[in-house]
Amino acid sequence: MERELDGKVAVVTGGSRGIGRSIAEHLARAGARVAVVARAADRAEAAAGALPESGHRGFSCDVADGAAVDALVSQVEKELGSLDVLVNNAGVTGDNLLLRLSDAEWDRVLDTNLKGAFHTIRAAVRGMMRRRDGRIINITSIVGLIGNKGQANYAASKAGLIGLTKSVARELASRNILCNAVAPGFIETEMTDALGAATREALVGQIALGRLGTGDDVASVVRFLAGPGAAYITGQVLVVDGGMVI
Ligand code: NAP
Repeated sequence: MERELDGKVAVVTGGSRGIGRSIAEHLARAGARVAVVARAADRAEAAAGALPESGHRGFSCDVADGAAVDALVSQVEKELGSLDVLVNNAGVTGDNLLLRLSDAEWDRVLDTNLKGAFHTIRAAVRGMMRRRDGRIINITSIVGLIGNKGQANYAASKAGLIGLTKSVARELASRNILCNAVAPGFIETEMTDALGAATREALVGQIALGRLGTGDDVASVVRFLAGPGAAYITGQVLVVDGGMVI
């Protein structure tokens, strides 16, 4: 297959497992050198070391910490030479019914999922603007489009990510920086492993294609958005949900 990202450097937050790990693999297969970012340094380094091809690196960083993100981006640009593709995939849930949702759980989810993406984008676009080239891909969720009971904080963070995506797309298009979002439906990962059999069956019943998605289903779309075939797409939300919401 074509190595359309040869010579490019990609940062994948939350690349140590789940969907992010699949995204890191697909970008590496496309020829990019990948910086895998997660809070747990050992898992980030192990995931980077297991990627196809060489030159990848693992970094420990909490995306909710703006100063730590600034330092991370400087380190990536220094050690890998550039930062051309930014994938904001790091995400957490903290589900509870609205009346039981604490300020702390609201803040933890919003700080990682939404403010974290603001931090990485603000830090990464400095170099992208100089180079007049950049791709930013934010992993939102179908829940950010339709809402979900017990996920007010998560849904708000993912809806916020869509507004952030569209604003960045408008603000930075003149510098050839393209910003899009991918909205997965239900994907098999550690996040969804916790679902019981009955919930899983009910979910599958709502999906036109009759199965949960895989990390590869999402990662192939991210690879497309990072590559030359998506040069005329910005500010969009690509839904990857097997036809759950049509
Ligand atoms: P996951 O398996 O729980 O992995 C989450 C990743 O994010 C891990 O690498 C984790 O590593 C990292 N992470 C969490 N908090 C972080 C922080 N503050 N700073 C840096 N890294 C952090 O999640 P997933 O299911 O693959 O989901 C990935 C993304 O897709 C998320 O944004 C999620 O909301 C979205 N999504 C998932 C589904 C689904 O069905 N799974 C559906 C729609 C959207 P550490 O814990 O070491 O930091």
